[in-house]
Amino acid sequence: MLTPFKEPIYVTRPILPDLDEVQNHLKEIWEAKWLTNEGPKHRLLEEALKKTLLVPQLSLFNNGTIALLVAAQALELSGEVITTPFTFPATVHAMNWGGLQPVFCDIDPLTMNIDPDKIERKITPQTTAILAVHVYGTPCDVHAIQKIASKHNLKVIYDAAHAFGVEIDGQSIGTFGDLSMFSFHATKLFHTVEGGCLTANHREIKQRIDLLKNFGIKNEEEVVLPGINGKMNEVQAAVGLANLKILNEERKNRSLIEKTYHYFLKDVEGIDFVERHSSITPSLQYCVIRINKNRFGICRDELHQKLKEFNVLTRKYFYPLCSNYPCYSHLPSAHKNNLPESNLAAEEVLALPFYGELDLNDVEKICRLICSFQKTKELIGIS
Ligand SMILES: *Cc1c(COP(=O)(O)O)cnc(C)c1O
Repeated sequence: MLTPFKEPIYVTRPILPDLDEVQNHLKEIWEAKWLTNEGPKHRLLEEALKKTLLVPQLSLFNNGTIALLVAAQALELSGEVITTPFTFPATVHAMNWGGLQPVFCDIDPLTMNIDPDKIERKITPQTTAILAVHVYGTPCDVHAIQKIASKHNLKVIYDAAHAFGVEIDGQSIGTFGDLSMFSFHATKLFHTVEGGCLTANHREIKQRIDLLKNFGIKNEEEVVLPGINGKMNEVQAAVGLANLKILNEERKNRSLIEKTYHYFLKDVEGIDFVERHSSITPSLQYCVIRINKNRFGICRDELHQKLKEFNVLTRKYFYPLCSNYPCYSHLPSAHKNNLPESNLAAEEVLALPFYGELDLNDVEKICRLICSFQKTKELIGIS
């Protein structure tokens, strides 16, 4: 008999650094009386993250959404930006706040990333950029996207909020396109409570970004750009420095949990995982399954509800679809007929509990629960 968990099992829990370590940093910050505006902790974290993410240029931010806003300004985008509806609200909202028109392009059903084969037909004389998302850390088809961008003279921004540490054949995900944004929100693999960064390949663009995130202030006499306040403070940077030390441990644990989910669920009729090519170093940001209603016997929403009754709090991530929000559904590109794969994915995806502290026995029990709700075939791999 499977019984409900006594305590709720959340979809994620933030990594928490050693408190003494944070306190040591705080003491130094207090002594220096330097709380924000590119202080010593900020500089240390920027250098450390450049090494961790293997990128030539990196600018820290107070959050990932502001970083996206600044990315659009730094690249002087105007008019239309082709993007995916299958993402977190911030991706599309940031373009809207920047005065840009989002144009939705459907996704590839296997990777759930923007489908490069469908991008070109969305290009108009007003298009200035492609904003693609590495959904769940699965890399976009960066080479196909760059080819289209180069041919049509478009900029490329990647929302790499899920892709911390991802590499393609050993090359950092943060080196593709013109700019990449990483989020360091508490729910992300690596976090600074709130925070984020932009990564780039060239020094000139980093200098422009650093001006834009500090009101465009060049010096005491000159304000040269219409900037915003995007600065990461010293306390955020201190948490980041301490978190970097526990990141590998978290990754190791998550890797085991992912293997356990795969072991118990991969052969279950109606459940699909996102396939990962062997050339990819994963982020381990999320563990997401797709539920095919016909093959599994019940739909994703029903599974989500049944798991909730057993105190397992999964998330329908990403549902609702951005193109179906009232603020975007009127756009011609938002029509459901143009976005069949995105609309289907939003109905089928389910993010499973996934964080390093999650007990492997609990993972096994979650898998048994999921299998017990299946209504079609014999349970596979589970007695
Ligand atoms: C978390 C997230 C963001 C926003 O980042 P914040 O740091 O919370 O502002 C943007 N895009 C995606 C895909 C995200 O998951």
